[in-house]
Amino acid sequence: MLNLCSPVKSNSTFPHSLSRPSAAVHNICDSVKVSQTQSATQPSNATPLVSLRYVQQLLAKHNIQKHKTSYCCNRQFSTSTPTLLLDNQKTTNIFHCRHTSCAVCSKKIYADKNSQLSKVFTYVSRKHSAASFHIMTLTIPHTQQHTLADRMEILAAIKRRLMDHKVVKQLNLLFFHTTLEIVYSKNGFHPHYHIMLCKISEITQQQIQAIANQYQKIAKAFKVAVNILKGFTIGQTTSIAAAATYLSKAQDLVNLANELVSDHKQYSNTETYTLPQLISLAANNQFNKIVYSKARVEKVILEFIQLKNINYFRGCKKYDQFVKLSANLQLPNTKKAAQPTKYIQINPKAFHALAKNNLLLGSQVLDSNNNVIQFEGLLNQHRTNTDLNDTFGYLLYIIEKNQHKLYVGIVNDVAIVNIQNNQLPFQQFSFSNKSSPSVSCPTSQLVAA
Ligand SMILES: [Zn+2]
Repeated sequence: MLNLCSPVKSNSTFPHSLSRPSAAVHNICDSVKVSQTQSATQPSNATPLVSLRYVQQLLAKHNIQKHKTSYCCNRQFSTSTPTLLLDNQKTTNIFHCRHTSCAVCSKKIYADKNSQLSKVFTYVSRKHSAASFHIMTLTIPHTQQHTLADRMEILAAIKRRLMDHKVVKQLNLLFFHTTLEIVYSKNGFHPHYHIMLCKISEITQQQIQAIANQYQKIAKAFKVAVNILKGFTIGQTTSIAAAATYLSKAQDLVNLANELVSDHKQYSNTETYTLPQLISLAANNQFNKIVYSKARVEKVILEFIQLKNINYFRGCKKYDQFVKLSANLQLPNTKKAAQPTKYIQINPKAFHALAKNNLLLGSQVLDSNNNVIQFEGLLNQHRTNTDLNDTFGYLLYIIEKNQHKLYVGIVNDVAIVNIQNNQLPFQQFSFSNKSSPSVSCPTSQLVAA
């Protein structure tokens, strides 16, 4: 008999944080206790940029060419249009690599996915009051000897076979949705899927047992031995489980989406790290907080960042229909981004010169006499400053300090402007646009530390 979590009713008298114990979902899923509490060192708004910069330097150091993340945030989307830094902390006309493994891009990708899932869950639970939400987690054994690509290929194939099998088909699901999570532990890469199974009425113990048996059988066909009975404790690497949960409160549904899609999870096991966490620690040179050697961490990050053809999120066709149906649903507590009232305009020539001289994304580096040998990036400043005038002042300061490396008249190519009639004067290039960036200078110049 599988060690299953009992259904949790959300309309209990517990406060929201306890009404659906978040740990329950993860205890059975990951075999690792997960907390999403903010750590003592609160990440700053510039943290993703610092992580991105670190990864770009790592790619350059290892001579890895043409990785899109190398161009992320240091190229313009269109070189015929200025880049604007808006006073709502947003920026226009900057190329984003759109990799889920990119520290900057994943922020938006995860936030969008989170909101999409929340809307679908809310829509479905309003439409079908008896809808139940179950999370099934699939993992396979892994060791230091396995490459991430190898584990992923097998895990994805087993998952596909299982989801196509009649034990799942016969459940007559309202929809399912798959989330991939990759963590690193002393046993190497540990990729695993969280699969949301939504159906009318609960999935029975017999059905769960049948899925578990089938999972084991399919894995065996791939020469992978999964032990479904032992998979629920820390250190075990194989598990399949379902958390049966009836949810009705809006906040619970939002929390559930958070459980599935969050880019700032932390594992309480000190030998287990999420990849964003590992990258962030390495980017901030906090190798003392990582139990693995610097060389190993770099290798792990490079392997992760170069993983190809991976779907981190995937819904079935029915899920996609729910996405369309729920698109206009208003979620509680969703804040709309403030309308910008002014912006800093950086013309293409100036943007190019700043990028080329490492003045957009770099972190400040001082020599032994406290002289600045590398300036804090303008975009980092923009993300941290609340007052746009401060950012503009900083821009003029770095231009003055780096005058010899830039070009004469660069100050005429930057300006701070008040917005008239709530209208931005240039086309806004959206993050979701799939085109490639305008190429204006060789990558090697951009990423060289
Ligand atoms: Zn990116």
